[in-house]
Amino acid sequence: MSNPTTILSVSGLKKLFGNNTAISDVSFHLAKGEVVSLLGPSGCGKTTTLRCIAGFYSVDGGEIKVSGRTIASTGVFVPPEDRRLAMVFQNYVLWPHMRTFDNIAYGLRLRRMPKREIEERVNEIMRALGLSGLAQRYPHALSGGQQQRVSVARSLVVEPDILLLDEPFSNLDAKLRVDMRQEMRSLLKRLGTTAIYVTHDQEEAMVLSDRIFLMSGGKIVQEGRPIQLYERPATRFTAEFFGVSNFLPATVTEEGLDLGSGLRVRGAVERGDFKAGDKVLVAMREDGFEVTPGTEGCGENAFGATISNRLYLGGSTQLQLESNGVSFNARVVGSAPLEWPDQAMLRLRPERVMLVPDESDAR
Ligand code: ATP
Repeated sequence: MSNPTTILSVSGLKKLFGNNTAISDVSFHLAKGEVVSLLGPSGCGKTTTLRCIAGFYSVDGGEIKVSGRTIASTGVFVPPEDRRLAMVFQNYVLWPHMRTFDNIAYGLRLRRMPKREIEERVNEIMRALGLSGLAQRYPHALSGGQQQRVSVARSLVVEPDILLLDEPFSNLDAKLRVDMRQEMRSLLKRLGTTAIYVTHDQEEAMVLSDRIFLMSGGKIVQEGRPIQLYERPATRFTAEFFGVSNFLPATVTEEGLDLGSGLRVRGAVERGDFKAGDKVLVAMREDGFEVTPGTEGCGENAFGATISNRLYLGGSTQLQLESNGVSFNARVVGSAPLEWPDQAMLRLRPERVMLVPDESDAR
């Protein structure tokens, strides 16, 4: 629902390419100053949504409003330059004959802003993005990551109503990318910029966003704060996208869960809308178990298991275990499990168990 602080309203948005429906019925509302992500796998419609908002595509249904004014619908098309939006692309283009400072200042000069104010604003943005020492360099003398930051700075400095970012850090190396996303969030928050960030990286979306819109097949399938999507996935798709690798068919019982094959869980399982007797999928993260060598201490929520595979990942070891014909993926900190015997004990933590609907036809 939109309210007085709503700056962007997207309602029932639809876009076709020939017979292919790229997005259908995409709806969301942003409050002023909110930073959100459109997240999802390749081809789910993130970029198409962003481009419809930016005005690079007309729409085939629905409506986009900025501050109450319709900028796109089937009968309306406000050109991109009149939308007061700025977009940062994965493939950015800087003016090759301009130094960093001038590239960033360009949009402000076009607006005939006083020289002093331009200097202040450009310097602040350069400081925030770690570009201060590079003010006099030409683009050819900057690394790819530095050029990308100049491109972000150039879009931010004009203080658009809404900043649209399409995977702007995807060309950066892993370390810089991690630094940049934290910088980016604090910068956007400090400037009070409303921003939509497109990414297929769930960690990036979680660090950057107040809210995440998870997309699949041209639709938003779940929205919420990062912690809600991570800890309360509504479907197997969301859980999988947020890194869950254990999905076990089970029946909800009065005491907890029945995983079949004699495996039962008792205790404080967060049931949500499920009730005793419902068939569900138990979703568990790899670190939702305690695994110990040997079979001592089997009992409530603790089963004997056989280690069938071990994968050393540096900081942790990934284990595949079998218990009564049920397979589990677990992760243990450190390398100790490499030395363990094949027999182990697997303790489930009821508070780490998540339940999602079982959508398979087989049950
Ligand atoms: P990625 O993460 O790979 O960029 P995405 O989620 O941004 O993916 P979109 O680029 O929005 O996905 O594409 C959504 C769907 O629309 C895909 O099926 C894609 O093939 C199709 N599509 C996108 N742009 C065009 C186009 N210009 N012409 C035809 N089909 C297109």
